Amino acid sequence: MDDPKLLKGKIVAQHVNQRVEKMVQLLNEHGVQPKLSVVLVGDDPASKVYVKRKGKSCEKLGIKSETIQLPDTTTEGELLDIIEQLNKDTDNHGILVQLPLPKQIREEVIIRSVNPLKDVDCFHPQNVGLLVTGNPYVLPCTPAGILEILKYYEIETEGKHAVIIGRSNIVGKPLANLLVQKQKMANATVSVIHSRTKDLAEYTRQADILIAAIGKAEFVHSDMIKDGTVVIDVGINRVDADNEKGYRLVGDVNFDSVFSKVARITPVPGGVGPMTIAMLMQNTITAASFQEGITIEKTAN
Ligand code: NAD
Repeated sequence: MDDPKLLKGKIVAQHVNQRVEKMVQLLNEHGVQPKLSVVLVGDDPASKVYVKRKGKSCEKLGIKSETIQLPDTTTEGELLDIIEQLNKDTDNHGILVQLPLPKQIREEVIIRSVNPLKDVDCFHPQNVGLLVTGNPYVLPCTPAGILEILKYYEIETEGKHAVIIGRSNIVGKPLANLLVQKQKMANATVSVIHSRTKDLAEYTRQADILIAAIGKAEFVHSDMIKDGTVVIDVGINRVDADNEKGYRLVGDVNFDSVFSKVARITPVPGGVGPMTIAMLMQNTITAASFQEGITIEKTAN
């Protein structure tokens, strides 16, 4: 589908990747080979797909990558030991521990154990603090990807009411903190609504920009939005389908229902999804240049 209403993350991601390739070249000229290490614990099929995609993207852009695959039975102590080695390894600039982790491992302990300078996800409390106070080291990948889409398509956020459905630490909360900052591509009035919000639609119908990060297939319908809303659909949900795979991917927004009403909308797939990996690549470069003391143009924001 090729419609001017579509906000095509796939195209924006290519644009970011070109930028990253240039930054990799600059680092190479300084004798630095940027490297990302991804740790995967267990056999979750979706996590495996994501990790594979991250490795492929590194390869394409000239970033060295390593995947450390650990069994489902890995203990918290064993994982902490591995992270400690990666923290100390000066050839390694980024550490990504794929979530979710098996239940014997406490996520918050692992997140805190990663050297903040190598925290390319922006999950470490130190980096979250820097983000909230408006002086980020790197930006969390999915929210950063959303801002990048808004910037690329010149969608004004200043003074707009951005309504975010979902308050996760990965998407909803950091995105709210970014959009509310006193700066360009922010300055929005932000509402965060969630599973305990009463009369959700009362808020969503006020949105100039509606961001859905819920994890519920086709949750947002046309009667929940006003005419002219810009819709950013973060959701990736599998629903049964009569095709080879047996499923198809849909977002948290019912695309067909809202399409005639929206000003712009991100499709699923091909919207926010490709941006998350693109921003991870960019964060790896930012982390590598910082750790190596090399100044390259920081275009992350
Ligand atoms: P999460 O499960 O951590 O959080 C979901 C949020 O939705 C919660 O804060 C909850 O309060 C809210 N919610 C749940 N049911 C609700 C309801 N009935 N009404 C209102 N709010 C409700 O999920 P997440 O990690 O933020 O991910 C959300 C979705 O985005 C998922 O589909 C996930 O796969 C997708 N995702 C996509 C990308 C990407 O790269 N495109 C990245 C991260 C997450």
